Amino acid sequence: MSQDLLPPEASAPWIAEQRASLLAQRGHAWLLQGPSGLGQYALALELARAWLCEAPAEQGACGACPSCHAIAVRAHADLCVLMPELQMQELGWPLSEKAQAEIDDKKRKPSREIRVDAMRDAVEFCQRTSARGRGKVVLVYPAEQMNAITANALLKTLEEPPGDARFVLASEAAHQLLPTIRSRCLTHTMSWPTDQAAGQWLAGQQIEPGTAEAALRAAGGRPGDALALARSGAAQAWAQLPRALAKGDVAALAGHAPAGAVAALQKICHDLMALAAGAEPRFFTRADLPSRPLAMDGLQAWSRELVAAARTADHPFNTGLMMEALAARAKGVLLSGSSPRARR
Ligand SMILES: [Zn+2]
Repeated sequence: MSQDLLPPEASAPWIAEQRASLLAQRGHAWLLQGPSGLGQYALALELARAWLCEAPAEQGACGACPSCHAIAVRAHADLCVLMPELQMQELGWPLSEKAQAEIDDKKRKPSREIRVDAMRDAVEFCQRTSARGRGKVVLVYPAEQMNAITANALLKTLEEPPGDARFVLASEAAHQLLPTIRSRCLTHTMSWPTDQAAGQWLAGQQIEPGTAEAALRAAGGRPGDALALARSGAAQAWAQLPRALAKGDVAALAGHAPAGAVAALQKICHDLMALAAGAEPRFFTRADLPSRPLAMDGLQAWSRELVAAARTADHPFNTGLMMEALAARAKGVLLSGSSPRARR
């Protein structure tokens, strides 16, 4: 079967280790949690493949049986994938006929959250008999994209699981889940790869070492996010970002969507605060940042503004104006520690 249909993390050694350890445990409902970019979707899919595989090993699915093949081509009758429609499209999962028709007819846009309709289908799916006789699996990702109604519908099924259904919920913000959902699942916290393992994995994804290093730094060590940054081209310019902003270069933020721009500024702010407190920066090197430490109270004020900006960044009133304001504010902060001469 083609491995290309699996997410790139599926072959990563740290995912393989976690897969083996989870498969050795019992449990009909797992919650995989951790920040984004650690591979929870890949691990969730690996568990689903292994549970449904006709010749599973301790290490996971065989990759060759009809069940593994059916998952690879996104057409396994016993696997129900619950995702926001946008995410399903990105990851290559087919939508239900009804949903696809509504989107094709331009009646609505693909959803950003898990729809009640899809949850109803999933609950019904759980009641059906397994088609291939190896039980059924419901995969929910990102689980925090369930609203209160869909979460409650799932809760009912989690409380009284039909005999052969298993659940794997993958979340990048598990604190947003209903506590009742969390308490019905066995929780697994995603483990972090070492920088070396992540670097080797990125090399295997055809990312050259210099870019991989910058991307990992920019992503705070989270390999999935680092891969996305490297592929988008944003990693290459990352180290230059503080300097470009200090020069008043608004275009330095152009490679980012508004939410990404705010996140990038938050990382600069984080590192400036670390330096001000005498600690090491995390997302940039010391050489990328202003050499004089900045005043902590000014940085704290900026940090609060960025938190507020993050709330509106998904739906800005005017993207261009927002980016200009963000860049101007960043410039002011970055130059606040330099002499009046350099500030001009
Ligand atoms: Zn198999």
